[in-house]
Amino acid sequence: MYIVQIASECAPVIKAGGLGDVVYGLSRAIEEKGHTVELILPMYDCMRYDHIWGLHDAYRDLWVPWYGGTVHCSVFCGWVHGRLCFFIAPHSQDDYFNRGIYYGASDDNMRFAFFSKAAIEFLLISNKRPDIIHCHDWQTGLIPVLLYEIYQWQGMGNQRICYTIHNFKHQGPAGSEVLRATGLNNEAYYFNLERLQDDHNPFAINAMKGGIVYSNYVNTVSPHHAWEARFSEVGCGLNPTLHRHHYKFGGILNGLDYRIWNPETDDYIPHHYTHETFEYKVKNKTALRQYLLLADSDKPLIAYIGRLDGQKGVHLVHHAMYYALNRGAQFVLLGSATEPSIRDWFAHEKHHQNDNPDCHLELSFNEELSHLIYAGADMMVVPSNYEPCGLTQMISLRYGTVPIVRGVGGLLNTVFDWDYDENRRPEKRNGFVFFQSDREAIESAMGRAFDLWYLNPELFQQLAVQGMQHNYSWQTPAEQYLGVYNFVRHK
Ligand code: ADP
Repeated sequence: MYIVQIASECAPVIKAGGLGDVVYGLSRAIEEKGHTVELILPMYDCMRYDHIWGLHDAYRDLWVPWYGGTVHCSVFCGWVHGRLCFFIAPHSQDDYFNRGIYYGASDDNMRFAFFSKAAIEFLLISNKRPDIIHCHDWQTGLIPVLLYEIYQWQGMGNQRICYTIHNFKHQGPAGSEVLRATGLNNEAYYFNLERLQDDHNPFAINAMKGGIVYSNYVNTVSPHHAWEARFSEVGCGLNPTLHRHHYKFGGILNGLDYRIWNPETDDYIPHHYTHETFEYKVKNKTALRQYLLLADSDKPLIAYIGRLDGQKGVHLVHHAMYYALNRGAQFVLLGSATEPSIRDWFAHEKHHQNDNPDCHLELSFNEELSHLIYAGADMMVVPSNYEPCGLTQMISLRYGTVPIVRGVGGLLNTVFDWDYDENRRPEKRNGFVFFQSDREAIESAMGRAFDLWYLNPELFQQLAVQGMQHNYSWQTPAEQYLGVYNFVRHK
């Protein structure tokens, strides 16, 4: 099969969160099963060019129809750790991808509408006719719309679309100018609740809704989150659309790329280890402490890695820090915030903890450091309000770092409580789970983890080693995606 992935991220060249990891890992896993995979991405000025090999211009003059005129683009091509990627670079005054950021501009809906239009135009003009076009999140939600309303009549009648939703919160609402710009000209037709019109704002179209309505198959990134999206508020208003299209909607758990996330071979950690040589893990804890200038002691080290925003339960992250310190543990946080109030809050906290030898807050995005923390920490807190899949708990498990998570979304599909999970035998359990989003709940789960650490270190180690033996590789999810691709191909 020939598959083209179109997305706004691909790790490690463009990574703001889990989406980047998934796009890369899935592409590699599918290619290794004998299929051809290419990726189309925006050419951001701020991406990690040091992770691209052989970058060259593949298509110098791509003229993308836009508002009745055209925009001149170049398409560059290069390999990102073995994956063939095409990068779209528009030459226009809007400078859509030269902003020093991936997301967060006031015209994001226009930036990614343009990317969507340019990506499909590139497929058309360069005569690429994949069996499957796999789109991700709201940024590419208009591609299925464009394919079925315009491009299928221009020679792309055999292409099929799989659409993966990594986060329902961001849906790409936009005004009618996006329709005019992309050539979806019949406003009244698209401003219809059966098509693109937002269910809550009659004056907006919704890119993610378009992706759901027009794709041949839609999934989110864990089975439990697929259920939540249909039946709870985490569907963020798309519940009726998902109900209408339930026959083509499901959940596929993300995988982890174990060649990147592997404590046996990880280039970013000084001491390699496996579940059989678990005793070497502690040397990474020492290295982490040295790197962050933390005190060397016999205290447990608890970490948080992730975006600092409402989704991630920042109030509970903040509380976890104080609770850990009060229980005599060390606490390390690696996170970045886009919202100014949260950024200021944690900056203030960092300043406050500056001289504390047991606490370090690193307020940046730092891939290399994240590896050292996964390897060096004893426990990882993931107190999310909602979590479509979550990679931090899966990475933690791989590194023998015991996850303490809130039981939502993919966290519930991957972490099984040491004390209370009645559906698993004790040797299959791997962490601690709490359910309410309040301080008492996280304290009780962290308290159980600390009690085990302090009172029964052998059992704590057994739990960590059990976690390392869980298999969350891409093997099974890649097979499931291939099943989906085959299914829609023959429809
Ligand atoms: P989300 O996609 O919602 O951000 P996930 O848990 O699915 O959350 O994926 C987060 C990914 O981003 C993980 O690979 C995690 O290690 C990484 N990550 C998050 N914040 C940072 C950071 N500040 N520095 C380095 N890596 C980070």
